[in-house]
Amino acid sequence: MTTLNNLLPDSPRGRFILYSTLSYFVLASAWIFLSDNLLARLIDVHSIVWLSTVKGVFFVLATTAMLRIALWVASALPTTGGGSLLTFVARGEEHIHGPSLANYLLAAALPTSMLLVRQAIGDAEHPLMILLVLPVILSALLGGFLPGLLATAIATIGAMAMDPLSHGSRIMDGRDMLALSLLVLNGVVVSVLSELRRHSQIRAHNNEELLSAVISGTSDAVFVKDLQGRYQLINAAGARMLNKSPSDIIGKDDTHLFPLPSAKELIAADLAMMQQAATQTLEESLPFPDGQDRIFLVTKGPVLDKQGHVKGLFGISRDITERKKAELALLEAATVFESSQEGILVVNPQKRIVKVNPAFSRITGYAAEEVLGQQPHMLSSGQHDAAFFRNMWAAIHTHGFWRGEICNRRKNGELFSEFLSISVVRDAAGAVQHYVGSFTDISKYKEHDEQLNRIAHFDPLTALPNRRLLVDRLEQSLHMGADSKHMLAVCFLDLDGFKNINDQYGHTAGDSLLVGVARNLIHELRGEDILARVGGDEFVLLLANMESPEACSQALDRILLAVSKPVELDSGGARVSVTASLGVTLYPLDDGDADTLLRHADQAMYVAKESGRNRYHLFDSDSDRRAQQHSKMLSVLNNALNHQEFTLYYQPKVDLLTGQVYGAEALIRWIHPERGVLSPAAFIEHINGSSLEQPLGQWVIETAMAQAEEWYLQGLDLRVSVNISAHHLLHPAFCEQLHQALRRHPLLPPANFELEVLETAALNDMEQAVALVVRCKLMGVHFSLDDFGTGYSSLAYLRRLPVDELKIDQSFVRDMLTDNDDRGIVQAVVQLARVFDRRVIAEGVETKAHGAALLSIGCHLVQGYGIAKPMPVHAFTQWMTGWHAEAPWHEIAQAAQTRLLPDEKTMTVH
Ligand code: C2E
Ligand code: MG
Ligand code: MG
Repeated sequence: MTTLNNLLPDSPRGRFILYSTLSYFVLASAWIFLSDNLLARLIDVHSIVWLSTVKGVFFVLATTAMLRIALWVASALPTTGGGSLLTFVARGEEHIHGPSLANYLLAAALPTSMLLVRQAIGDAEHPLMILLVLPVILSALLGGFLPGLLATAIATIGAMAMDPLSHGSRIMDGRDMLALSLLVLNGVVVSVLSELRRHSQIRAHNNEELLSAVISGTSDAVFVKDLQGRYQLINAAGARMLNKSPSDIIGKDDTHLFPLPSAKELIAADLAMMQQAATQTLEESLPFPDGQDRIFLVTKGPVLDKQGHVKGLFGISRDITERKKAELALLEAATVFESSQEGILVVNPQKRIVKVNPAFSRITGYAAEEVLGQQPHMLSSGQHDAAFFRNMWAAIHTHGFWRGEICNRRKNGELFSEFLSISVVRDAAGAVQHYVGSFTDISKYKEHDEQLNRIAHFDPLTALPNRRLLVDRLEQSLHMGADSKHMLAVCFLDLDGFKNINDQYGHTAGDSLLVGVARNLIHELRGEDILARVGGDEFVLLLANMESPEACSQALDRILLAVSKPVELDSGGARVSVTASLGVTLYPLDDGDADTLLRHADQAMYVAKESGRNRYHLFDSDSDRRAQQHSKMLSVLNNALNHQEFTLYYQPKVDLLTGQVYGAEALIRWIHPERGVLSPAAFIEHINGSSLEQPLGQWVIETAMAQAEEWYLQGLDLRVSVNISAHHLLHPAFCEQLHQALRRHPLLPPANFELEVLETAALNDMEQAVALVVRCKLMGVHFSLDDFGTGYSSLAYLRRLPVDELKIDQSFVRDMLTDNDDRGIVQAVVQLARVFDRRVIAEGVETKAHGAALLSIGCHLVQGYGIAKPMPVHAFTQWMTGWHAEAPWHEIAQAAQTRLLPDEKTMTVH
């Protein structure tokens, strides 16, 4: 049985075509065999030929009618799916809406051909009325009422007319009449029944068409399942939802459509519903192949058979996923609206408030019912002008959005700042639906901000701007530029002796003093001036629009006066007055940036302080430039020292009487990597008084001492002298360091080392100098007073200063040949040395004439270009070997020897 089923086509149409073809085969075969046998029995052989023709015509007509029915039915049958064939056959006929001309022609042809067959048979005894029944029934079934009646009428009239014709004048007997009546009755009844059936079929067809239109037209899924959960029907919309065609679904259950767990749940739920046999509407969530769950609103109910037994389940399912999402979004929006910490108000296109949230009420103090229907303007603080709101609305209309800070008023009248965003809500056509404003109360942040700003920019004690704000303002002023007529005076003010007030009266009193001074200063300022406190007792004033340095001086005098006004201190009501030192620089004469101007004013203030306080000092940009050059040079020199770019040249000191080179002065040189050998004039000024003075001095001592020791060990008994600067000499560690140096060169007799000290340096602090020289001399070293004659040594001091040698300054020596004054000075120094029992040496001896002149006045120790220029060590050693060959100097000496007094001859080097 199953095998047979498998051979049958699946679709109703296929099955129908198969059945129709088989039926035709059986009918046509039966007709051929049976009809010919029948004819052979009923008629004679002569009539058989034309009767056979008539029979053929009838066959063609009858099969034509059947073919037509078959085609109608086939066109109505679905190509797929199941269903009872008879149901579909019935449905195929529903296409007949009324008899067509062909029905009438068929209704006329069928009985006529049968009448001819009957006539041919020609049995007078048995008129064979029964032959006419089939054409009548066929006509009624195919054409309905009227074709049925037409066929009945033709058959009746034909039978009545033909029988007398064929049988002479025989009148129809009672049996014939009965047969005829039954034929008529049969025709009428079959026609009426056929018509009734047709009408009911058309009605059913119409109903089904309507139903089908609804099912296929709806966007909801409509389906019917059998008791096993297999889909019996599903509409196109349902199949589309599952991304399949109806034929893919029909006959299958949910396990083929959904993941197994969900399918099982679905089948179980359907089963339960069928058992309950009640219609229910519920929401179902189903997983779909795209990985998303979709939500359906499903109405499911039982499908009952005629006996009221459940034979399946129908369902109408609507995809409500999007609606659910929208509902959720609405719910979320409503929650946000209600619970937002931002105040929200919704305004209609007529600018009336239609909705506010609880935060709105909390911030503004207005309950919802107080503001609904009102204009947002009711919150206005009056702080913004009409142009502000015009611009705001213009932005909203143009960009659909506005955001900004606005000041509004609460119900209790208090002003508050809010950060407000307004957006336009438009419908699909672009018409404004609402304006939605959301705002945050930022009053607290603003207050906090202001507080921070105050802390960051103002001095908490005096409430004056601090350095940061001052620099801001100063930069602003500089940015605005200066005009040629007006100047900006940047004044750095430092109180004199403020520390004493603090120490004497305590810090609270000190604070009161600062506040009082600030108050007094403010009185002196004009609106455009600025006073800032930049440190403990340091203030800066920016005096704008100064027309001249003179006008500035007057203003500064007033300021000094204002500072000195007595201030009452809190503690004990003491009144004190202080003075101040002011440093001032004038912009744009001093054309620097804010930092530079403040630095210059600060520098000038220090000058004012050093110059005696309670005064002002104007910054001098030339001296500043020099100072900068100086500090740059110092760093270069420091570098040079570290890179051993310094060296010592040696210039011999000679005793003209003996011709002996008794000493050598070490003179520093800088072997500059680019400029070559530089003498001290190029750099020594920068070193004097600087931090480099001492280390460089130590280096000179160390180097010269090492050289002296080396010479000594080579058998050269030379007294090596070095120049010591004033600061270095007076440095507390000097003696100790000298001592250490001597210890590092134990083989050098200390008497072979000499320190040349400038007369002026020694004079600065004579007491200390004396003590120092005494200490150093105890170590055995010698001292020479350099450039003697340029200072103003009093004889009393000279007597106390235990130096060994006076070195006549070269300026006197140079001109002694031409200038009697200078010659007199040189003579006087030589006499003085003799009186105080000091050695005397002349420097700057450039010619033999100088040498001769010096010898003639009793100074036989000389140093100068005339003997030799300062030279590097190796050159000096070489020079020494050639020195005795210098005959001219011997001549001078011998000439002088003859003139000198005996005791003078003995004044040689010890
Ligand atoms: P000073 O100590 O009076 O040294 C003598 C200066 O006169 C040397 O100049 C020397 O070259 C120069 N001189 C010597 N004979 C003649 C001469 O016949 N004619 C002329 N016109 N000049 C002569 P220098 O070496 O340029 O030194 C200049 C000054 O620099 C020195 O004067 C000394 O005060 C200072 N100085 C030199 N070396 C050092 C040093 O190592 N340390 C310190 N602190 N100062 C030094
Ligand atoms: Mg010297
Ligand atoms: Mg000198």
